[in-house]
This record gives sequence, C-alpha cells and structure tokens, in this order.
Amino acid sequence: MRDDFSEEVKRVIAHRANLVCSNPSCGSSTGGPQDDPSKALNIGVAAHITAASPGGPRYDSTLTVEQRRSAENGVWLCQNCAKLVDNDESLFPGKLLSAWKIVREHSALTSIGQTVHSSVETEYQRKHRQILQWKGQRVMWVKMPTPQQAMTLGTRPWSSVQLTVLDCTEFYVKIKGDGWDNSRSIPMRNIEIGHDDRFDLPELLEYDR
Ligand SMILES: [Zn+2]
Repeated sequence: MRDDFSEEVKRVIAHRANLVCSNPSCGSSTGGPQDDPSKALNIGVAAHITAASPGGPRYDSTLTVEQRRSAENGVWLCQNCAKLVDNDESLFPGKLLSAWKIVREHSALTSIGQTVHSSVETEYQRKHRQILQWKGQRVMWVKMPTPQQAMTLGTRPWSSVQLTVLDCTEFYVKIKGDGWDNSRSIPMRNIEIGHDDRFDLPELLEYDR
C-alpha cells in the first residue's frame, strides 16, 4: 500500500512551486514546450517529504493516510534532485525538504505579477535604465564628501549644480557642466539617485568610493 499523490495534488504541488525545482542550489525549470505543439513538457516530480509507504525515505508512521497524500507532504523537485534526496536520508531530512518547500513557494508567491525588470535586473541595470531617461536633460549633480572628509568637514554636500547627462551605460554616467571644457565619466558604482525638490529635478549623488 502506497499513499501516492492524486493527479490533482501533484498539479497543486507543481504550481505552488511555479514548476521550478525547490532545491535552492538547483532551481531548474521543470516545464516547457514539447516538439508536439499540442503538448507540454514536465520533468518535475512531486516528491514525498515523508515517504508514501513504510520503509521509504523519511517515512513518518504518525501521519494519517490523508496527511501523507496531501499537497503539504509534497515538495516539487526536478528528476535529478528527486533521486538525490531519496538516496541519502541523513543529508536530506524531512525538515530540510519542508524548508525548501516554504522558501520556493514564498519566492513563487512574491514573483507573481512582477515584470522581468523588477525581478532579475541588477542594481546597476536599474540605475542605468532610470538615468537613460534623463539623457540630454538637466539634472542636479551633488558631490558627496568621502567618509574621511565628512569627519573633518561635515556631511554637507560640497556642491550641488545643474548639469547635463550626456550618456549612460551600465557602468558609467557621462556628465558635462556649464563652462566645463570636458565631460566627466563617473563610475555607476559611485552614483546614487535622488530627487532635488527645490528645482524638481532628478539628482545624481556622487560618492567617492
Ligand atoms: Zn533540481
């Protein structure tokens, strides 16, 4: 007698994980298209956190049949990870699999409705995308003191001037002030974005770091 999951329970386990393997050091996608355009691929497994039958990995005799067959007792894994966790019970105890399930489902929940930008872009990419909108426009440029300078001179910004954003990549922002002979390129890592309320302009804060 095996307390296997029903097809419906398997489907729930899969979709609560958004079809992604719950092993945090794997995280591989388990779904996709097949060659046959009318079919979808599934290489994921609804693995039992505690085994479906006595003698199986992590079997818990205190559970009822219903509990053992419920979606709560299942963790979504790719085929490789499903084999891995059943091969060594001591390395992958039930508590660990439960933790994987919680983390994966939390991540699936928080990514619902998120755009590609908001979920995968780096800090630099985010700043790049924002500053690009101001290309050719006026911004406030604020030079911030270094920590050493701040100790002797205070944290007040050294200067705050209007200038023009000439260009921006993920790594540099090119700026030019009125009366400057040359433009300057500031590394993106030294820049924070703010807003100047007085002039209602975007603000680039330059930190020396
Ligand atoms: Zn995996």
